[in-house]
Amino acid sequence: MNADLEHLIVLQAQDLELRRLRQQLSEGPLQVKAAEAACAQAEAALKAAKDSLAREETLRRSQELEVKERQTKAARLRRQMETATSASQIAALEHEIVFLDQSIAKLEDEELASLERTEGFELALGGATLTLEAETTTLASIRVRAADLATRNTAAIASIEGERAATRALLAASPAGEASLSAYDRIAKAKGTGLSEAVDHKCSACQMMVRPQRWNDLTDRDPNSEHANTIFTCETCGRMLYYDPRRDAPVRWTPGERLSSASNP
Ligand SMILES: [Zn+2]
Repeated sequence: MNADLEHLIVLQAQDLELRRLRQQLSEGPLQVKAAEAACAQAEAALKAAKDSLAREETLRRSQELEVKERQTKAARLRRQMETATSASQIAALEHEIVFLDQSIAKLEDEELASLERTEGFELALGGATLTLEAETTTLASIRVRAADLATRNTAAIASIEGERAATRALLAASPAGEASLSAYDRIAKAKGTGLSEAVDHKCSACQMMVRPQRWNDLTDRDPNSEHANTIFTCETCGRMLYYDPRRDAPVRWTPGERLSSASNP
């Protein structure tokens, strides 16, 4: 295989790994932000439940007070009845007592309704407390994970950046390497990747067929053939094609792996 192409394969692996590491790095703060928002929401729900409980208790205290006042007033009116003399006076007192008793019954019903609402708010308070605890724990672990990821990825990026610079320097030093490198950069910028592996008579990036003659030239492993040093491109997507003979016994490409064999063909 063309030595420049081998370097380009390594370069692409480095570029893709850098992209993955940077993408992962940028996601960390977003995950922290989302967990912070979930925490804030749980805090707000807890506060709302506490406020509702407090409001309901204030309301019920005033209802209880009102019931007591009316009961006192009704008792006073009943005592007045004992000393009342005229029928109209008695009728008026009776009317007022009935009215008071009715309003007391109504207030007591309202107190019961308030107690039921309080039970609901207490349940909500319990739920909100648990949710907040869970969200707080999640936030803490996401923060740790994000910080850890930032440290690891920043170090990995720096290390791969160094390897990448070395790969580019090797390419720039080879006779046709500079042209291949600028072609790679141009295609990668436009399409995300500059190279595509040809697998099973297809370009693995765009899935279009590679013509049989081109497939034969591409997969020809004779170092003395006229195409031994040619870099073929996919006629459909324009990416540079490479064929990995180790497909026969699949082994993953790893950055730097082929550098030594490529520089000593
Ligand atoms: Zn293609």
